[in-house]
Amino acid sequence: MEQIIPEPPRIQLLDGATIDRIAAGEVIERPASVVKELVENALDAGATSITIKMEDGGLTSLVIEDDGSGIPFRDLPLAFERHATSKITAAADIMHVGSFGFRGEALASIAAVSRIRCVSRFMGEDMGGMIEIEGGELVRREPAPRNAGTTITVDDLFYNTPARRKFMRTAQAERRAILKLVTKFALAHREVRWLVRHDKDVLLDLLPAPSLTDRTRDLLGPAVIDHLARFRFEKGGFSIGGLASRPTFTRGNREHQFLFINRRPVQNPALSQAIFQAYREVIPAGRHPVVIAFLEIPAGEVDVNVHPAKTEVRLLLEREIFGMLKKSLQEGLSLRQADELRPWVAGQDAPAGTGAPLAGIATAQDDYLREHFQRGGSAGYEYRGVPQGQGELFGSRALRDDPAQQTGSGVVSEPSGTGADALHPAPFWQLHRTYIVTQIRGGLVLIDQHNSHERILYNEAQKALAAGGRRVPTQQLLFPAHLDLTPGQVQAWQGHASELGAMGFTIEPFGGQSILVQGLPASVKNWHEGQLLLDILDDLSWDEHPSQEHQVDLLASYACHGAVRAGEPLTVPEMQNLVDQLFATDTPLSCPHGRPTLIQFSLAELEKRFGRT
Ligand code: ADP
Ligand code: MG
Repeated sequence: MEQIIPEPPRIQLLDGATIDRIAAGEVIERPASVVKELVENALDAGATSITIKMEDGGLTSLVIEDDGSGIPFRDLPLAFERHATSKITAAADIMHVGSFGFRGEALASIAAVSRIRCVSRFMGEDMGGMIEIEGGELVRREPAPRNAGTTITVDDLFYNTPARRKFMRTAQAERRAILKLVTKFALAHREVRWLVRHDKDVLLDLLPAPSLTDRTRDLLGPAVIDHLARFRFEKGGFSIGGLASRPTFTRGNREHQFLFINRRPVQNPALSQAIFQAYREVIPAGRHPVVIAFLEIPAGEVDVNVHPAKTEVRLLLEREIFGMLKKSLQEGLSLRQADELRPWVAGQDAPAGTGAPLAGIATAQDDYLREHFQRGGSAGYEYRGVPQGQGELFGSRALRDDPAQQTGSGVVSEPSGTGADALHPAPFWQLHRTYIVTQIRGGLVLIDQHNSHERILYNEAQKALAAGGRRVPTQQLLFPAHLDLTPGQVQAWQGHASELGAMGFTIEPFGGQSILVQGLPASVKNWHEGQLLLDILDDLSWDEHPSQEHQVDLLASYACHGAVRAGEPLTVPEMQNLVDQLFATDTPLSCPHGRPTLIQFSLAELEKRFGRT
């Protein structure tokens, strides 16, 4: 029998139009990609005014008009050829490219999948020109009048690639994507006048803005501006700067985070992570800050040729840049304003009563205090003269096994030997069993006892976890508590047993669904005969977060349930300890959920309100 050999498939080169159409798919995904490429070309051409007009979300028609340098008449057809660019001449230039474009693909790609028309006049020429291309084929080219600059009209995008066309979302979604994109460019290019129209509507009309704050106000709205602080950081040839929201102002998603490298809008997971980490302890889980960050990086340190649309970049010193961004945010956001907010009495240091906080004037005593505050943890507390063993917020005497304590009526004796009080005799009052009032150098503060204690417990437990539970102060229960758990609680306990141990809980399995609790972290205020632990385990039941997140959840839950509540009376030493410990944390201004721990009233404000000025 003769074997039938099938005809082999023939390998052949694709024709140019097909190659272009395939390549176009990478760069031109949707109308916003067209806008991106054409806006970049306009910026590369030095435009000071850019107008974008769209119909039907850009699917029917998109027009981008600029007043840049224009394209010489003889080069017009060349501009639409693949790999035709005026911006680099050799591969070696790629790492040092200062322009947005350099691949010479955008116009060719757009022309392959639409009907495109370009009218342009080069600034060095008297007459402009016009060129029309349909699906990659040149259909017309003739002289045409125009002011210096370029207008590109893209009609019927994807008319010849029906599959792609089908994937387009609604005109509204495309319009939103275009607006978001222009917002990014407009933040980075404040010198440009931007106009965006959709059909008859003006969506954006921005005059050149003198400052980032002005441009941000125009784009994100005046309500946001008051919540933003500047940050800036420089090192070597690198600089990072911009605006970011204080931790009390957050958003439900990351849409308000704008990252730029050398004024190019970019996405980079490491940089997003740096923002997340900078804020994670001062804002609630699931909330996101507003951040507008400009990174200036020497051209040789960043590779923009990773992604055809160049929105993703590769950073050669990613770890360093990550650290710089995180640090610049943490410092610039005044998360460490603690120095001006510490309890203070007149005469303690530099002249008082001026109404202005004396930030930056460090006396020897300030240094002394700062050194002790910054030692952090309970170890930093002896300086105040509070006896050892009361280093914890409520001391070991606050063991919550005493029923009197649990009702909140327990009276704690005054600590003895507070010899160093003379150093720092700030008075404390409790208002409505909820707020602590004390004087600070520039005025007074109202401190929320629950939020503050949450912050303290959170940071303490976090340190304990980081140290693997070594030398964590614990309180042994006089009567170990026997707790029956629900299945969800069992699962949560099993999932977090080692962490709970590191935080200072001594827990043993007690058969079946039961556990025996013998010890607690020393600073816990509300043990409530085990309810604290049950509450935490409930919060963590069926928790499916990845491991990092899951520690944060544990810490937040522990802090929330373990903290002193509103309505609980506090003694003066307790208040004093609470305030001291609060300022010993790195992040004293907000609780782990992002609520403020304190409200400050400046002397200047009081003077104004009492008509003294
Ligand atoms: P690239 O921007 O990577 O060079 P493009 O396909 O986007 O590639 O553009 C090709 C060339 O056309 C550019 O290098 C530039 O010389 C010219 N060009 C495109 N758009 C404009 C414009 N708006 N103004 C002036 N020149 C332009
Ligand atoms: Mg380009």
